[in-house]
Amino acid sequence: MKRFEVDVVVIGTGMGGAAAGAVLAAAGHRVLFLEKNREIGGACSFYDKQGVHVDVGAHFFSRGNRGPIGEVQRRLGTRHFVPFLRCNPLLRIQGPAFDITGDTRLRSLPRFYASLFRQFGFHPRSIPLLLNRIVAPLVSSQRAVQSMDSRPLEEDTSGMLQNPQFMLFNSTMMGLYFVIPFSQVSAGEAAWCTQKALRSRDAGYPRGGAVAVPRAFIEGARALGARLERNRLVQRICVENGKAVGVETADGRYFSSRAVVSTTSLRDTIRLAGKANFPPRYNRHVRGLKSSLGAVQAKILLDRPVIKEGILVGIRDTRPSPGSPLSQEDIHRLWEDTLAGKVPEILSFYCPVPTNFDPRLAPDGYQLLTLTAAAPTCDHKAIDGPEAWIDAMLDALFTLRPEIQPHVVWIDRLGNRFLERWMGKRGGPVISTGQHIGQVGGLRHPNTTPVAGLYVAGDCAGARGIGTELACRSGIDCAETLARALHNRLL
Ligand SMILES: Cc1cc2nc3c(=O)[nH]c(=O)nc-3n(C[C@H](O)[C@H](O)[C@H](O)COP(=O)(O)OP(=O)(O)OC[C@H]3O[C@@H](n4cnc5c(N)ncnc54)[C@H](O)[C@@H]3O)c2cc1C
Repeated sequence: MKRFEVDVVVIGTGMGGAAAGAVLAAAGHRVLFLEKNREIGGACSFYDKQGVHVDVGAHFFSRGNRGPIGEVQRRLGTRHFVPFLRCNPLLRIQGPAFDITGDTRLRSLPRFYASLFRQFGFHPRSIPLLLNRIVAPLVSSQRAVQSMDSRPLEEDTSGMLQNPQFMLFNSTMMGLYFVIPFSQVSAGEAAWCTQKALRSRDAGYPRGGAVAVPRAFIEGARALGARLERNRLVQRICVENGKAVGVETADGRYFSSRAVVSTTSLRDTIRLAGKANFPPRYNRHVRGLKSSLGAVQAKILLDRPVIKEGILVGIRDTRPSPGSPLSQEDIHRLWEDTLAGKVPEILSFYCPVPTNFDPRLAPDGYQLLTLTAAAPTCDHKAIDGPEAWIDAMLDALFTLRPEIQPHVVWIDRLGNRFLERWMGKRGGPVISTGQHIGQVGGLRHPNTTPVAGLYVAGDCAGARGIGTELACRSGIDCAETLARALHNRLL
């Protein structure tokens, strides 16, 4: 029988790879993590600038240790879980006709919704309908949630309630969850994610930055014998007789393994393993899958704390007559423009303030903002280039919060190509297999592939959830499926 160097090579150390490798190591398998970057963590990684720890993405974790992140640490036998930090007020959402502040406490939810309904100008008579449409899915059974997977959320809420401001709010919030146009958001996936986040009551930001989570997984796995090699770009997944048997790296090394877990996008996995090793139908299927949008970002250091909220969400309206009544068409146009690569007249941004959760991420007295906006992936021809998107996003922030601009020390402007290079996923999507209707729940790509021994994990396959937690859950599920195959000597 062929001798393999390790049981499993895991390509990538983002949330998906780190979780998959940790669960496999905890189950006693020999794991080798290969990461192309100098730093681990993928989208949750960081860079250091003048003593400031800057997240590569812009992160907030919706379930803290009460979701899949806690599960991985439990399986590793971790004694001290990554602490999730909170701040109050947690979130402020400023739109053209609303300005709402909220936190994660369940008991503050009625006040949050009351303020929301008042500001959207709902008539008290419509409250029962609102409650039915909004709150009922949040308390529905898992089966009921599943049955909503193929229903557009837009039809379930906004269409019915005929309130464009409310639709804009929903469209923005779902944009934060899934980074896809509102018309393509599944009511089931949205209800599932919101239910879990509300029930966990553990949303927060990890002490030490987003990378603290994949780092804890990988450290835990290494304590159990796993190996980590950084600066190792996998150039080829080796397939022999229809089975993955190892990988080759750009520096000419070969690592043999009983199985390979790839956590790049599905298309990049096919490229690495060779198209000819997959059935043409499968290749066509993967080509037809949609990714989420990409993102442009600006990392902004301020010379003093200016913002008190943990996360800012803003919506800037630059229609020719801003303030004129909003219509559903305006919101559809917003997404059509975004998909076409044209900076929309109504532009939303998302801006976590990491130093409000963990002040040690920057020198004393400074504040870091991680501003981001959904933008086209860089493999699409866009009407406006990344610089125009970044300018519009900064303009939106400085217009809504003018007190910020006088305190700017520096701004790092990061276009969508930055994410593509860092994560190694073509186009740099935020979620590589988007959570569009038809790509969630039972219809989501599984963790297995047609090539024996080749598994996929992270945001490209399996699971439900928001961003990091989707990728983490996918990593756990992938590891379980693979561990069963290893146990049964199928590989
Ligand atoms: C700007 C931005 C903001 C976000 N905000 C949030 C948020 O607030 N909350 C949230 O929950 N989620 C958020 N997300 C989403 C979340 O970060 C991702 O969904 C999740 O972290 C993806 O994890 P992953 O393991 O699937 O992939 P990645 O994190 O992309 O990891 C893939 C890893 O594989 C490595 N790799 C790729 N190809 C190769 C190769 N050939 N050889 C070796 N290594 C390779 C990469 O270097 C990388 O480390 C955000 C993402 C972005 C980009």
